[in-house]
Amino acid sequence: MVVVNDNNCSWINDLTPRVNIQVLSSDLDCEWLVVGAGYTGLSAARKLGQLYPNQKILLIDAQLAGEGASGRNSGYLVDTTLNDGFTSNKELENYKKKANIYKLGTEAVKKFIKEHQVDCEWNECGKYFASSKEADKKILENFSDTLTKLRFEHNLLSNKELTKKLGTKFYNLALHTKGGILLHPGKLVRAMVDTLPENVSLYENSSLLNWNKVNDIIICHFKNGSIKTKKIIFATNGFLKSLGIKSNYNFPITLTASMTRSLSDAEFETIGKPKEWGVLPVRPMGATIRMTKDRRILIRNTAEFYNPYQMSQSELNKRSLKQKIGIKKRFPQLPDDIIQSTWSGIVSRTRNSSQIFEKIDDNIFVAGCYNGSGIGVGTLFGEQIAIKASNEVTDEIKVIENRNKPTWLPPDPLLSLGVKARLFYERMRAKSEI
Ligand SMILES: Cc1cc2nc3c(=O)[nH]c(=O)nc-3n(C[C@H](O)[C@H](O)[C@H](O)COP(=O)(O)OP(=O)(O)OC[C@H]3O[C@@H](n4cnc5c(N)ncnc54)[C@H](O)[C@@H]3O)c2cc1C
Repeated sequence: MVVVNDNNCSWINDLTPRVNIQVLSSDLDCEWLVVGAGYTGLSAARKLGQLYPNQKILLIDAQLAGEGASGRNSGYLVDTTLNDGFTSNKELENYKKKANIYKLGTEAVKKFIKEHQVDCEWNECGKYFASSKEADKKILENFSDTLTKLRFEHNLLSNKELTKKLGTKFYNLALHTKGGILLHPGKLVRAMVDTLPENVSLYENSSLLNWNKVNDIIICHFKNGSIKTKKIIFATNGFLKSLGIKSNYNFPITLTASMTRSLSDAEFETIGKPKEWGVLPVRPMGATIRMTKDRRILIRNTAEFYNPYQMSQSELNKRSLKQKIGIKKRFPQLPDDIIQSTWSGIVSRTRNSSQIFEKIDDNIFVAGCYNGSGIGVGTLFGEQIAIKASNEVTDEIKVIENRNKPTWLPPDPLLSLGVKARLFYERMRAKSEI
């Protein structure tokens, strides 16, 4: 199994290309091995490096560190997400548990960027949940009730206000939450790579092929070498299932996104020169769309059950076309050819949208499955799984472990049939919103 990412992601292409990449080409021993170098694995390795300055800690990734989903997402660090309902006390209690985790996730990222003076274009401008459909009013009113009960500041907006704030007449109603941060995901994850402690050795372009446990040692096999470790943390998120980890509790979903070039002064003028903003859809398969600080438009309007290892250029082109339509719907006055890049990335989903954070065997730990909201939670879970693997308990771990646990998923072909049918249904429901 080899993960091959496209090289098209604008966020990653904004960064200086990395040099001195170390590939695994021998047999090594260590105390700690972290597999996967996105927000989760980098945060786990950083924490282990602080906890064990004299131990050998290895971090390994199948591709370049941070260039999976962590470097290619939409950059919403969320405090709340929109789900239908939440009218009963039990649902409200569950929502609160989720929001508590998001809060800790935001704090973990905040602490990291403060400590390391990271510039990741952090903007505490909140976010919009918007729809073009009047029929979605009820959903937003229910959501507003939930947020009021939990004391999240927010307000409802109409078409007129939205046109002014977003520069598009497309949306008829929205709920704006004061909380929620927009950032440059590539800059954030690159800072995590650049600030790894000295006692963490990073190996890249080295895919874990298989692993087993003999007595108390975990043996991991790669194409050109092996690693024997006393403890291991799996942080491969959308690829957990492919490594046989919690297979009946998670599955990968492929997302694709496009970004335009920066709008010219004249183009920006035609849309009313809005400040940076981020819109999330009310219907799950609608478009996530963002205006960046430097006047680029990002759009993500696909989510598929698709081969997670790579997407060909011709498949990407098809999705790019969909994203062009999404941009044109909202900004008909902009030229047709402003998309600069289209890329895909893999996330992990569970049935009930709950995350995985656990010890799966003696000395074997796993954290992942953030259901599309992994910037803060991945950073938090990475740090805390390192602490859990050290047999310590923190207040954060207590909050994490108080969440609902992921529920069981049927095996294939039932799973793929079920997921595809659900995605199809949601796609139809959100047809007007892509
Ligand atoms: C298009 C898109 C938009 C998104 N938007 C948002 C958003 O706005 N806000 C938000 O919070 N989240 C968003 N997400 C989700 C977020 O990016 C993820 O939840 C987060 O990056 C997960 O971090 P991670 O470190 O757990 O996983 P990843 O970043 O996926 O890292 C896992 C790493 O494991 C490596 N790996 C896999 N298999 C192996 C193997 N066999 N051997 C070695 N290494 C392996 C991979 O190469 C990868 O680098 C989005 C994701 C995508 C793709």
